[in-house]
Amino acid sequence: MSGIAETVSCLDGYDPDALRVDKAREAILACLAPITETERIETRAALGRVLAEDIVPRINVPAHDNSAMDGYAVRFSDLNGEEGILREVGTALAGKPYAGKVGLRQCVRIMTGAVIPEGMDTVVIQEVVQTSADHKVLIPKGQKRGQNVRHAGEDLKIGVPVLASGKYLRPAEIGLIASLGLGEVRVKRRLRVAFFATGDELASIGSALKEGEVYDSNRYTVHGMLERLGLQAIDLGVVRDDPAQLEAAFRKAAQQADAVITTGGVSVGEADFVKQLMARLGEVLFWKIAMRPGRPMAFGKINNSYLFGLPGNPVAVMVTFYQFVRDALLHLSGRTDDFSLPLLKATAGEALRKVPGRTEYQRGIVYYEDTEWRVRTTGQQGSGVLRSMSEANCFIVLEHGRGAVKAGEQVAVQLFEGLA
Ligand code: AMP
Ligand code: MG
Repeated sequence: MSGIAETVSCLDGYDPDALRVDKAREAILACLAPITETERIETRAALGRVLAEDIVPRINVPAHDNSAMDGYAVRFSDLNGEEGILREVGTALAGKPYAGKVGLRQCVRIMTGAVIPEGMDTVVIQEVVQTSADHKVLIPKGQKRGQNVRHAGEDLKIGVPVLASGKYLRPAEIGLIASLGLGEVRVKRRLRVAFFATGDELASIGSALKEGEVYDSNRYTVHGMLERLGLQAIDLGVVRDDPAQLEAAFRKAAQQADAVITTGGVSVGEADFVKQLMARLGEVLFWKIAMRPGRPMAFGKINNSYLFGLPGNPVAVMVTFYQFVRDALLHLSGRTDDFSLPLLKATAGEALRKVPGRTEYQRGIVYYEDTEWRVRTTGQQGSGVLRSMSEANCFIVLEHGRGAVKAGEQVAVQLFEGLA
């Protein structure tokens, strides 16, 4: 495989000092090689994992034609939609089929989920019939052939692939696999992601804050974001802005993980010594991305591990993670389904400040008013104001070329929560 510098330099419009968001995303994706190792695990434990085999049913689901309602299984040709009296000869329950024969002008009492007795093709719901003590059942006219019958294979059919390798397994897929009677399933191994925070100003929780220090929160947000993606998060702690300590941390991280995430140390003032250090370790590109928040970022490879050097500011960490790292990690995990975060439209409920020439990710609150979805910002948008991420329920994504937004204009939003 060619090096990452070579790969990205081939991309049109690649400029590391003024890199557009879409170019940065394209550059990262062009360099990634997904993991290939797999493991077989219990179906229930596969929730949130990535499927590593195609699921092709070996049985039909449902396995038999069965009743969708409580009522009477009849032979349509006995009535042909006209009123008629049939003789009830037995009962079919879910899990307890009616085993006997059903003669002409006879019917079977049937419950939802019960197998349709041989020769029967239609179910008449119990609410419309009249029964008598001598097992006569009066069926009104107007019944349709095949009504209230669920057909074998209507959900899943033998031989018709239903889930493709690379699909993320949500509750619906787990249930679907279970419905085929499969107790185990092959999945990709979990992606291992090591992370550490850098900075001489960082204090760890549990120690008293000295003058000029801030508690390290980035390791906590990064850990949370990784966990929610179902990845194996490896916390390597806080590392001081010291070349020897940083070098040791990078080596250790790259050794045990498929990807390494760091925060801090990539801004202009700090990047120089980190740059020299990283040049010794592997191949690392330093970017100035045309975005806000989150301008500086490093991307590279140390041995077989991908490096994402995120800025230090807490909001910038989260924004760059969601805009670049998330998709990269999901791709590395072996996912082949569409995992991009959807962009929805909302009406700006207020004017928004924006200058052309960079993509902005303002923290927003989407709300419903006057029959439409509207969005306003959370207020203060500084990249150190982590509260803005907590108060927000979406990013307001303001495109590269866009200028100030007037109230009433349409803007794109990315919701934080979704059904998964
Ligand atoms: P840097 O990118 O290293 O220059 O960091 C920019 C700013 O982000 C610093 O001034 C810190 O206030 C803040 N910061 C950096 N790392 C962390 C962290 N792990 N937790 C909280 N804040 C941080
Ligand atoms: Mg720093």
